[in-house]
Amino acid sequence: MASIFEPFRIKSVEPLTFTTREQRVQLLKEAKNNVFLIKAEHVLIDLLTDSGTSAMSAQQWAGMMVGDESYAGAKSYFRFQEKVHQITGFKNIIPTHQGRAAEKIIFTLLGGKGKTFVSNTFFDTTRGNIEFSGAEALDFLTEEGKIPHHIADFKGNIDTKALEEYIQKRGAENIPMCVMTITNNSGGGQPVSLQNIRETAAICKKYQILFFIDACRFAENAYFIKQREKGYENKSILEISQEIFSLADGCTMSAKKDALVNIGGFLAMNDDKLALESKNLLIITEGFPTYGGLAGRDLEAIAQGLEEVLDEEYLKYRIGSIQYMGEKLKAAGVPLILPTGGHAVYLDAKNFLPHIPASELPGIALTNALYIEGGIRGVEIGSLMFGKYDENGNHIAPPMELVRLAIPRRVYTQSHLDFVCDTAIKVYQQKENYKGYKITYESPLLRHFTAHMEAL
Ligand SMILES: *Cc1c(COP(=O)(O)O)cnc(C)c1O
Repeated sequence: MASIFEPFRIKSVEPLTFTTREQRVQLLKEAKNNVFLIKAEHVLIDLLTDSGTSAMSAQQWAGMMVGDESYAGAKSYFRFQEKVHQITGFKNIIPTHQGRAAEKIIFTLLGGKGKTFVSNTFFDTTRGNIEFSGAEALDFLTEEGKIPHHIADFKGNIDTKALEEYIQKRGAENIPMCVMTITNNSGGGQPVSLQNIRETAAICKKYQILFFIDACRFAENAYFIKQREKGYENKSILEISQEIFSLADGCTMSAKKDALVNIGGFLAMNDDKLALESKNLLIITEGFPTYGGLAGRDLEAIAQGLEEVLDEEYLKYRIGSIQYMGEKLKAAGVPLILPTGGHAVYLDAKNFLPHIPASELPGIALTNALYIEGGIRGVEIGSLMFGKYDENGNHIAPPMELVRLAIPRRVYTQSHLDFVCDTAIKVYQQKENYKGYKITYESPLLRHFTAHMEAL
């Protein structure tokens, strides 16, 4: 496998803190065997999320210094607005403090009881905001996207046939919007093809349903299109991105992903009336429309980040890092989801630790083993996060037991990722040593964040 070439040199460093295996066993015990409850300073390589964890560039930090903090009409807003307009072409651009704030506004305006929103796959906060409005959120991922080990280029695609059939059955007047999530976060960062976006846009147009992009990882998606879709080999990432957005009526964006910043987001759309209503809601929840819950310096950093994320050398390194890890782990026989997507590697804990049944949380066993052996923090996406109980209190397992290793942008080098792979391989080679867990405390909602567990 080709080595990773980091397209930057390092000017400012942040030391890592080292712990011994013995200390980590103790720290994990004190954290009730839940890595969410460990202090970040006791983690060596933190792969909990790629959200808000990017390293900013020297240019972004310089932007922080020249940020205009005027309440209204700040220079930084116009720089931000121009950059977002260049990429998306949308007429109205509204800054928000992060992605879910944009979602809250648009779904408050369009949602409500009796409405249905459709998507390739809604991300949890998007679904949460839709359901909070009283509406329902339905996913129409293609069948191939649902098969973890099926190799295909665009496993994030929406099933256009199923979508259109549903629209006819439900009645377009009950469906205010279709949201295309690029890349499909919940589905492992799998990309959506431009052809699929184009066909979906046409369906939405035919039935007069708004078509929005959940744009968190638009540049990573555009890079996959360039690599994999015929006719896009020679287009720039900017051109591909512009084509994607030109097919939509608007977008929501978490700048904590592909804008390479630690906080921020936006809502953008062509419709002036909807934009005006959005701004009115923004003013009472986020702030004045030219800062929307952010400081002027944040807007500068987002504008600069959006410029840098379009750089192909960066994206080659970014997507290449994930591919590199996938190939290395696969070569050692480690069970994982292939092909790897844009922002994370997903270990298949069910096949990794086959001696641990779903009711004993194999994903937690693997997550905790990675912490104990290497100080690495991943996140379980399996029975702890999604498991339920039947009426007799028996465990109902979700279809998959996964451990996600999300890679922060521009933060870790090849040596770090090699260390992560070597640790995972070591854990795999001595997998019989690891035992399952049982839950000793759980909250009624989103229990994985705060659960306490005990080793069996
Ligand atoms: C992160 C994310 C969001 C929500 O953004 P926040 O900035 O975390 O509020 C929405 N959709 C997708 C696909 C995401 O990955």
